[in-house]
Amino acid sequence: MVKKPLNKILLLLLAVFLLPVCIFTVFQVSTLNENERVITEIYDKQLEAILFSVNQYSQDLVDAWAKDLSEAQADTLNTKERVNEFLLQNEAVQYILWVDTTLSEHLIWSFEKESTKEVEVVLLDTLFQKKEQLARLTTYQKEGYIRKEPLGTLHTKGVLANQSGLIFMLDRGRNYQICMLVLNPGSFITKTLAQKIQSVAQENFIISAYDDANDVQITVMDSIAVPVPNKRPLWLLPDYSLGIVLKGETIEDLAKRRTINNLLILLGVDLILLIGLWLIYRNIKREIKLAQIKTDFVSNVSHEIRTPLALISMFAETLEMDRAASEQKKKEYYSIIRHEANRLASIVNKILSFSKMEAGKINYELEPASLTNLVEEIINTYDYHLKSKGFQCHYSAAKDLPEVRIDKNAISEAVINLLDNAIKYSNGSKEIEVRLRQVGNEVFVEVQDHGLGISAEDQKYIFDKFYRVPSGAVHNTKGTGLGLTLVSSIMQAHQGSVKIESQPGLGSTFKLVFPVD
Ligand code: ADP
Repeated sequence: MVKKPLNKILLLLLAVFLLPVCIFTVFQVSTLNENERVITEIYDKQLEAILFSVNQYSQDLVDAWAKDLSEAQADTLNTKERVNEFLLQNEAVQYILWVDTTLSEHLIWSFEKESTKEVEVVLLDTLFQKKEQLARLTTYQKEGYIRKEPLGTLHTKGVLANQSGLIFMLDRGRNYQICMLVLNPGSFITKTLAQKIQSVAQENFIISAYDDANDVQITVMDSIAVPVPNKRPLWLLPDYSLGIVLKGETIEDLAKRRTINNLLILLGVDLILLIGLWLIYRNIKREIKLAQIKTDFVSNVSHEIRTPLALISMFAETLEMDRAASEQKKKEYYSIIRHEANRLASIVNKILSFSKMEAGKINYELEPASLTNLVEEIINTYDYHLKSKGFQCHYSAAKDLPEVRIDKNAISEAVINLLDNAIKYSNGSKEIEVRLRQVGNEVFVEVQDHGLGISAEDQKYIFDKFYRVPSGAVHNTKGTGLGLTLVSSIMQAHQGSVKIESQPGLGSTFKLVFPVD
């Protein structure tokens, strides 16, 4: 009965809470990827911008070279000094070759006198193979634009191994129109470009150059130990590239850390929501159970009240109609009426006490009293009732028990409740023991039966209001489920407690524990 609405509520809660949470989580995870993509894009753009400025710088530098060399050539009287001055200032430039457009006349400049002849031959040969590029440069020059064309690595072996070339047309020269420069890439990068690179990188980035053909890193600033995801070629040295990473933490690390942090937060939020969901579910489950228990209570109480009422009505009618066969029968009927009326009163009293207890309206008047006297009084009054049902009550009390502060009426109610239960759940075993003892600073009243007993699981709930063991022979005995709730509340008001030891099939011992001052 309880399961079905609970399942529905669980499904509803899952739909209302978990579905949005799942959608939100998926959305978040997908935006995290998006963020990462955006970060990588920014990173690429940054590299592009840095590279652009480095390339722009090389271009400006080459323009200045072209201008210097054109002027040197035009200044026929001082050409040699000016070219030598140029070579002195630009360490990366190894050779300068001037050639006419027909490649018949040429002039070579260098500090390296020994190998010049050999280099001359190789360079002319190289130029010869670059006729297409030369034609292009001439066309551009006719249109008034001096273009500079990087040739990349000239040779992998020989005198010019791993040197890079660059050609352009000289501005004012007559005999020597073409200028070819041989550059040492390592020196160009570390001496000429390094300063520029350092100034664009500032404190934030590490930039390194790479000789792509030989897969060698050329350290400009600090060397980069990590793999570089993005490299871009240099304009002047097409076989070389620049790589960039963030100093300290890379963009990838940052993005990864962010992703992990966000996922952890998301996980935390999901967890909190799940806990919330579970708490709501638990509360609803409890409420539904309580509603169910209340319904059972109403039906139990109605039944409990109906039986004595029917008996009272029946015997009163018999007496009224003078249908009793003898005086003795009449006495018996009167006794039944009184007995049933008492039963009714006891049920009503229990419900009233409970409602007072719930409203916090019970005032206990605690005064020092002898528990021994009180319990003996109860047993004496109750004896007739017990014997009439065939029960044997074995009573024992320790000598000289100290007085305790109690509300006599309330404690009587508690003990009677325990005796009632011992009878109700006796399961045919007619022996009941009542004991009064003291251990240390505690005096206790024990009521033991050898009846049905209570399982460990049910023991957790029997003091809850309206709770009745839901199955088996116990369930067939009528009751309100309020007795033990009252007992527990009374004992709390006395700063004491109720303890239980019980085993199904062997019986139960309830112990009212009172503190001694
Ligand atoms: P009830 O009016 O149902 O007896 P109580 O609050 O007195 O209500 O007891 C709660 C439940 O605890 C009972 O319904 C019964 O299942 C169980 N119980 C109480 N006392 C005993 C006992 N002496 N032996 C076995 N079960 C008991």
